Amino acid sequence: ATPTALLVGTGRGAQLGILIKGPEVLESTRKVDTVVLDKTGTVTTGRMTLLAVHTAAGESETDVLRIAGALENASEHPIARAIAAGATARVGDLAAVESFENDEGRGVHGIVEGRLAVVGRESLLGDWVISVPDDLRAAKLAAEAAGQTAVLVAWDGAARGVLVVADRVKDTSREAIAELRRLGLTPVLLTGDNATVAGHVADEVGIDQVITDVLPAEKVRIVRDLQASGKVVAMVGDGVNDAAALAQADLGLAMGTGTDVAIEAADITLVRGDLRAVADAIRLSRRTLGTIK
Ligand code: ADP
Ligand code: MG
Repeated sequence: ATPTALLVGTGRGAQLGILIKGPEVLESTRKVDTVVLDKTGTVTTGRMTLLAVHTAAGESETDVLRIAGALENASEHPIARAIAAGATARVGDLAAVESFENDEGRGVHGIVEGRLAVVGRESLLGDWVISVPDDLRAAKLAAEAAGQTAVLVAWDGAARGVLVVADRVKDTSREAIAELRRLGLTPVLLTGDNATVAGHVADEVGIDQVITDVLPAEKVRIVRDLQASGKVVAMVGDGVNDAAALAQADLGLAMGTGTDVAIEAADITLVRGDLRAVADAIRLSRRTLGTIK
């Protein structure tokens, strides 16, 4: 295509809410055959809310919320925001945090009122040799069976509660996936979340390839593996944890509603955070490069 045609293409993209970093990006866009989609904040709204609190026998709900809310208050993760906001709404003042550490893709831990507290996935509690009693495990499994995310809360070496948070699929995601298929592309859902929760989302939007339990640092490896198997990969994401994979992909697309780090790493920004724009971008590149040689 002529430089003029490419400029017209990128200009047309801007009108559609598709910000393309440079005219050469349209070339890589056209060749894509596989679209890897992050779940939280990309296929789903990422606006989580705290739905329920389950406590271990003899544990106070207020303590579970004060301590978990306090730790999560220091994190930017959508789950953390939901828990901090939900806890504040229910108990008012949160506990005082003395130290805080983010365990990327798994949760958080720190010292709260002199106690070592851990909030997150079961595998994170496992690092601290904290096991989950049967009643809490039942609450966790029930939430996950309903497509919700269960976050474990522990301190002083024991699991104390389960917080149930839920997100919802964006209204436009199902249609967006159908459009990608019509263009002959294969969608793949990639998430740090577990198979039960991810499976619900995948079913809802019509994706049959799902890669779950992926730590942030592993997302880039998954993209590289797909490329090594001959795929031309587009990655769509919103989070800090997607940035490396966005940069590695043949085409990185960031949600305009996402983090600055993701937007910087990507080739294209979808201003409205509407997944249907992925198909628009691919159609635009095909049209720009196909008709004008
Ligand atoms: P995704 O890949 O879908 O964007 P993440 O990689 O951000 O998801 O998170 C993966 C999982 O790790 C979450 O579903 C949750 O179980 C857990 N997790 C991550 N951060 C936190 C946190 N701050 N608090 C509790 N759980 C967390
Ligand atoms: Mg995300």
